[in-house]
Amino acid sequence: MTSNSLAYISTPVKALNDNEVQQLRADTPACENLIHFNNAGSSLMAQPVYQSVLDHLAAEQALGGYEAADKAPLNEFYTTFAELLNAEPSEIAFVENATRAWDMAFYALPLSACDRVLTHVSEYASNYLALMQLAARRNITIDIAPSDSSGQVDVAAMEALITPQTKLIALTHVPSQGGLVNPAEEVGLLAKKHKLLYLLDACQSVGQLNVDVKAIGCHMLSGTGRKFLRGPRGTGFLYVKHDLIESLDPPFIDLHAAHWSAPDKFEWAAGAIRFENFESFVAGRIGLTAAARYAMDIGLARIESRVELLADYLRLQLYSVPGVEVHDLGKKRCGIVTFTKADEKPENIAARLRAVGINISVTLGSTAQLDLGARELPAVARASVHYYNSQMEIDRFCVELQSGWD
Ligand SMILES: *Cc1c(COP(=O)(O)O)cnc(C)c1O
Repeated sequence: MTSNSLAYISTPVKALNDNEVQQLRADTPACENLIHFNNAGSSLMAQPVYQSVLDHLAAEQALGGYEAADKAPLNEFYTTFAELLNAEPSEIAFVENATRAWDMAFYALPLSACDRVLTHVSEYASNYLALMQLAARRNITIDIAPSDSSGQVDVAAMEALITPQTKLIALTHVPSQGGLVNPAEEVGLLAKKHKLLYLLDACQSVGQLNVDVKAIGCHMLSGTGRKFLRGPRGTGFLYVKHDLIESLDPPFIDLHAAHWSAPDKFEWAAGAIRFENFESFVAGRIGLTAAARYAMDIGLARIESRVELLADYLRLQLYSVPGVEVHDLGKKRCGIVTFTKADEKPENIAARLRAVGINISVTLGSTAQLDLGARELPAVARASVHYYNSQMEIDRFCVELQSGWD
């Protein structure tokens, strides 16, 4: 365990009390008529976040898009995400989603024939597709570290796969298709020991866990706005460590990412801005900034402990619903809960619950071939809880889930 987790023990997290939860629910008007357990798909925006997006759209309508942007505090995006992730503002880029954020880093790496990339079966589908594309295009090799008995990446076995050709570790912190939290900090120590680059997909962890790039030791980290951060759709972000930025060659360029300094010359923009593009969803960026601020005002450690509490309660309740099997792996588990039910397909469960005002999602095995595919799970139902959810909602969910059992 790292010094970070010791600090965590010496300053116990103060749990969110009932009044605070009520306030957070009041900020989330849909709580009145909806049980939203699809926070890993797209969460509900809190009222101040939603309002910040609307306010900027109103300013664009009243003033003009460029004129409204001139008046908006757009740099707060960088300072806010630097604070959220424990990074520097110049290490942060706004990107339209997590996939493109990850791509902007990955395709910028100097990987060539015979280089090897280490990953794990929990890697996100789109990332793995990109790995396969570069395997075909540049002849890189993908090595898949095995899981330990709990299902998380086996760090010792991962180390055993490192060769002189290994250049990169690509890991998904919290997989989309299950509740496990990979030991990102231990992998960070491994990357440091063997001087490997480390690209962390934190799409499902930022916003529900206390994610700190320095404690983890990753060089690049990607995330999205709409999931546990509760920001608007069509927003994402990328962190790239300052001492790495200069050595990366972004796959795309434009007049925002670079300066055309002479007819035959250009210079990249300073810092992580080189991974951005000129045109972006400005109101979305403002909403994403507000969402990160909202999460920090609650406190990420407090969010993490409440999400864990609710998810543990949900798993416990699910064990007593006849025919239900919970599929989450890992030593540490988070707010994503996956399950199947005998005699009822996940698609049916999701549709039936949707009709009574309960949102969950379905993850298909085809989107997680190395994970669900290998476990012979063609599909799982996924209920993902956030801090504004309640035990009462979980109880009602389990009753509705069971009522289809005839
Ligand atoms: C959703 C997800 C992504 C992709 O995020 P987008 O914003 O949709 O591009 C990447 N990684 C993981 C683990 C995800 O769950």
